[in-house]
Amino acid sequence: MSSFLNRLLNPRPNALGVEIGTSAIKVVALRPGSPPSLQHAVMVPTPIGSMRDGLVVEPQAVATELKNLLAEHRITNKFAVTAVPNQVAVTRNIMVPRMERKDLQEAIKWEAERYIPYPIDDVSLDFDLLDDLSTVPEDGQMEVVIAAAPTEAIARQIEVLRLAGLEPSIVDLKSFASLRALRGNLLGEHLTKSTLTGTNYTEAGEVALVMEIGASSSVINLVRGDRVLMARNINVSADDFTTALQKAFDLDFSAAEDVKLGYATATTPTEDEEDLLNFDMAREQYSPARVFEVIRPVLGDLITEIRRSLEFYRVQSGDVVIDRTFLAGGGAKLRGLAAAISDALGFRVEVASPWLTVQTDQANVDTGYLQANAPEFTVPLGLALRGVTNRG
Ligand code: ATP
Ligand code: MG
Repeated sequence: MSSFLNRLLNPRPNALGVEIGTSAIKVVALRPGSPPSLQHAVMVPTPIGSMRDGLVVEPQAVATELKNLLAEHRITNKFAVTAVPNQVAVTRNIMVPRMERKDLQEAIKWEAERYIPYPIDDVSLDFDLLDDLSTVPEDGQMEVVIAAAPTEAIARQIEVLRLAGLEPSIVDLKSFASLRALRGNLLGEHLTKSTLTGTNYTEAGEVALVMEIGASSSVINLVRGDRVLMARNINVSADDFTTALQKAFDLDFSAAEDVKLGYATATTPTEDEEDLLNFDMAREQYSPARVFEVIRPVLGDLITEIRRSLEFYRVQSGDVVIDRTFLAGGGAKLRGLAAAISDALGFRVEVASPWLTVQTDQANVDTGYLQANAPEFTVPLGLALRGVTNRG
């Protein structure tokens, strides 16, 4: 079939969302549709030492793992969307005179120059309209979100995908992907009535806090519907818990990681938890109570950072009531974390449900796995969604 005809018959290709994370390389494959349907959700640990500050430093090593992962699961989609981490990017909401989308590209460049701390020729810019053009008066202003990242950082992510045999199509920002994957929670965009419980999404006008806690990066977003009110990087991420354990018990990183996954809780462990977690006599030294004492300062820092971000927003934009908080990223899986944040800050906190936005019953993966790893798959799912919908 000629490629023209092919495009005509399949206007949107199946897409892969590929997140190259500090802890894991994650791939989500989607087939387009309303809603899109999940084909695969797979991950593999990122080779140790191949990432620094959220960016790939050993492209070949990462590409080999990615290629093997795709081959192992017989994933043949090529069209891939990936992301740069928020640590290297700058995003801003700006006001510009009303104009058509096609004219924005040039205008944005001039505007962006004022906000971006890198030479404009070394960065790549992306933007999205936040206002519906039909609601903006002819001589009015409209709000646009701009995102900029060093071209070098983007090139490195693209290189990994190419080396793995994929066709990189779009490079997004991790936090945008995370929000896109949570449209079910944030906008009530649900697959079927059966997944709509009336408790798992924000109502119109409510403000939600979304926190993506990755291995080496965390981002906090304040959103109302699909409007981002604030986006900030947070200096505490899931690896910091591991590093604290590593120091306290004099372990190497991966042994400390095992202690975290096995024994760490974010609240004072109850007696039942002590019994449940402390089954391994050889590891009696890592009693949940002791492990909790070690990670407690990191937890304190995380909570302080959330408070600071909210304070920052309030100073700039006025008071805001947080109606819901959703946690994503692997860090959200720390036992008791949602409850600990909720206790400290006094608002409702829950782990996000990214899979609400797609049909999962035809997937080559079981529901238990999807549920257990929902936080880690938030970003790659959001990337794949951009691939199949081309929605900003
Ligand atoms: P980044 O995007 O920051 O580069 P990443 O995408 O690789 O990193 P994630 O996969 O979102 O990171 O999360 C991995 C982190 O989540 C690791 O620090 C891991 O220890 C932590 N994590 C995963 N499961 C648990 C758990 N059950 N308890 C505590 N922490 C966990
Ligand atoms: Mg991540």
